[in-house]
Amino acid sequence: MKIAKEKVAAIHYTLTDNSGNVLDSSKGRQPLYYIQGIGNLIPGMEEGLEGKSKGDKFTIKVSPEKGYGVRDDRQIQKVPRSAFGTQEVKKGMQFSASGNHGSQVVTVTEVGLDTVTIDGNHPLAGVELNFDVEVMEVRSATSEELAHGHVHGPGGHHH
Ligand code: ZN
Repeated sequence: MKIAKEKVAAIHYTLTDNSGNVLDSSKGRQPLYYIQGIGNLIPGMEEGLEGKSKGDKFTIKVSPEKGYGVRDDRQIQKVPRSAFGTQEVKKGMQFSASGNHGSQVVTVTEVGLDTVTIDGNHPLAGVELNFDVEVMEVRSATSEELAHGHVHGPGGHHH
């Protein structure tokens, strides 16, 4: 069976940037289970996985446009230090904020005396992604999985 729309696939992956730094990996965990073609994964991953079968090993190169987006300088803002109240604020801290597009993760990039600079870009925005992938399993999704938009059972939701 090949990976196609509304198939469930299980994949092992290692994600590196162009300098070879490992950003994420499923090694040592169970594989990632997802449903193809319904937006579970970034578009570049779905494109690269389409038509692959169990046992296939390959690399997918994903551009920012088909990954986590290009960096947008308008997502960088200075906010008053007082907005954080008594909370300790450090460079690199991430927290959830609600914005125009629902909740997003913002990262503190600079802490000044009076202002804090926050960046609402996804941490992987603007980064070219290299996925080393191995397909572990391909099966049809059940109608219940398609209705819920996620995988059930091993590697998926239990509810
Ligand atoms: Zn469900």
